[in-house]
Amino acid sequence: RAKSDGRNTWQFYTPEMNVHASRLLELETELREALQDRSFEVWYQPQVDLQQKRVVGFEALVRWRHAQRGMVSPAEFIPLAEETGLIVELGHQVLEQACRDIAVFNTSRNQPGYVAVNLSPRQLKDEQLPDYLDALLSQHQLLPRCLELEITESTLMDQMDQSLPILHRIEQLGIALSIDDFGTGYSSLSYLKQLPVHSLKIDRSFVQDVTTDRDDVAIVSAISAMAAKLNLDVVAEGVEQVEQLQILRDCNCNLVQGYYFSPPVPFEKLLEACNRIESELNR
Ligand code: C2E
Ligand code: MG
Ligand code: MG
Ligand code: MG
Repeated sequence: RAKSDGRNTWQFYTPEMNVHASRLLELETELREALQDRSFEVWYQPQVDLQQKRVVGFEALVRWRHAQRGMVSPAEFIPLAEETGLIVELGHQVLEQACRDIAVFNTSRNQPGYVAVNLSPRQLKDEQLPDYLDALLSQHQLLPRCLELEITESTLMDQMDQSLPILHRIEQLGIALSIDDFGTGYSSLSYLKQLPVHSLKIDRSFVQDVTTDRDDVAIVSAISAMAAKLNLDVVAEGVEQVEQLQILRDCNCNLVQGYYFSPPVPFEKLLEACNRIESELNR
């Protein structure tokens, strides 16, 4: 994609690059239209507390229902949104939808749950983010603990200096911060002390082979033990099998999320999913 501002100018063109570039350009145009039309959906995946035997929160995951292409994966459009700066507007739409939905959802349950929203690098450089979040909570009359933000370990490491003041202001609002894909980002442990972090999400790659790979068991239990000592929650992502669940329990990993309990579902199906999960846990 040739950029006129010179930031990222292509040096050479090949036919393959032209196909790729025009596909990207098309996608960018469609992304703008979808933002205009507010046609992004937010789906939710339950997070389960194994000790309490209940669903305690939900991860918000954006979905793009494209008229011709069908469901487009966030893996495909989030990087483009990030690159073009459209992520800030997209991020706002996701945050608004998530806050509106959790406010409604909590009125139908006796214990309030939280919604965990993923944030991209560029959103974490936006100095207006804390004020924006503060206004959003008031608008939906939400307690700060009903909102959580997920940030990947690598994003944090890449832009610590710029993001740290913003993260501290977010912490002062009482909003929890979770480190996503933990264990994949070459971080030093010392940064955990500097950061206003509330939980670690153990990356799916460690959970995947936990039933066959002793090293992964060691990694998961080490992360859980460290988290407990640092007074952090630990969430295992990508739990698909009951055998994995048992090992995670043994590793003192108390919070789990994955297809085993439920895939991400549209808001209309969330209550049904929660009821099913909780009745299974309490059987
Ligand atoms: P993530 O934050 O690590 O989200 C977890 C991904 O794993 C989701 O993919 C989820 O659908 C998938 N998943 C959940 N349970 C299982 C399981 O048991 N097995 C397997 N194989 N996968 C599972 P999804 O929804 O395609 O999202 C991919 C990534 O896109 C997310 O990774 C996140 O980095 C990004 N993303 C999604 N929504 C947003 C958003 O609203 N804003 C931003 N900035 N990024 C988002
Ligand atoms: Mg996440
Ligand atoms: Mg994750
Ligand atoms: Mg992951």
